[in-house]
Amino acid sequence: MAKLLEGKIIAQKIKDELKSLVRELKTSPVLASIMVGENPGASAYLKSQSSVAQELGISYQLHRLPCETSQQELIDFILKLNNDPAVNGIMVQIPLPPQIDYLKVCEFILPVKDVEGMHPANMGRIVFGRASSEKISPCVPGPLSGKNRICPCTAEAVMELLSASGTDLYGKEAVVIGHSEIIGKPLAMLLLEKSATVTVCHIATSEAGKLKEHIGAAEVLVVAVGKAGLIPGEWIREGAVVVDVGINCVDGKILGDVEFAAASKRASFITPVPGGVGPLTVAILMRNLVRASCAQQ
Ligand code: NAD
Repeated sequence: MAKLLEGKIIAQKIKDELKSLVRELKTSPVLASIMVGENPGASAYLKSQSSVAQELGISYQLHRLPCETSQQELIDFILKLNNDPAVNGIMVQIPLPPQIDYLKVCEFILPVKDVEGMHPANMGRIVFGRASSEKISPCVPGPLSGKNRICPCTAEAVMELLSASGTDLYGKEAVVIGHSEIIGKPLAMLLLEKSATVTVCHIATSEAGKLKEHIGAAEVLVVAVGKAGLIPGEWIREGAVVVDVGINCVDGKILGDVEFAAASKRASFITPVPGGVGPLTVAILMRNLVRASCAQQ
């Protein structure tokens, strides 16, 4: 039976570390979060952003813009926050209304304030990463590179969970299902940095009927699709470490992308949904903010 990889415990450790770092900063960090229109799907994430910020002594600003906001108006709003020295971190909640291209607007966030790591400069630093056994430090004065880099929060959360499982990724078959810009693509780079052999699967892999074959080879499996129960438990390789990023609301219940009960019988470690990746994502968002604030001191 698989051991549970719970995000809550690791998140608490990160938050404890951050609390003392925040006390050492000259001014408490300020996070500006922008939401365009009504977005019921984002409300749980917003609530936890605001409560974790409060717990850590971080100032949290929620800016609500009307649903009809144009892409240029959102960019102008971001530019205003870029120029506000009191704001250390900027993030844009997704999903956005159809007239706004998320990746396009992220290009206008100052890289040093880009706490979600979605600016091409921060994304590029992941590609330039070197394999390293050094633990990434939570806050080192200086520019946002090397140990100070900012990675997309969910991808980094997955890496923290894998590290907590004690898995040595060197030479391991790691399979990522999902190739989005916020999770799958940056995660593939982070896994490569640890010298795993990385395979990225996506909708076309499924359509080609090859998903089962790739999953069967995975010593480390990360699923980030958003389809409840997409991965049958019996497909999982015996002893695999399984991280389920998917969040799906089915009949009022939150479920992952992996059939949890059946997968638990084959995996060595597995994340629960909820309670796996989710709680860690917010802690890492705040760590990115503290790194950004340090770089701006
Ligand atoms: P997305 O829609 O941008 O990407 C989905 C990916 O899944 C794509 O690469 C697509 O090709 C692939 N895909 C779709 N159907 C597939 C299939 N049948 N077989 C194989 N691949 C398939 O989604 P996203 O924004 O990357 O989010 C993915 C999931 O992660 C969602 O459930 C989302 O709610 C969740 N999520 C969780 C957290 C967290 O903190 N736990 C954070 C962000 C997103």
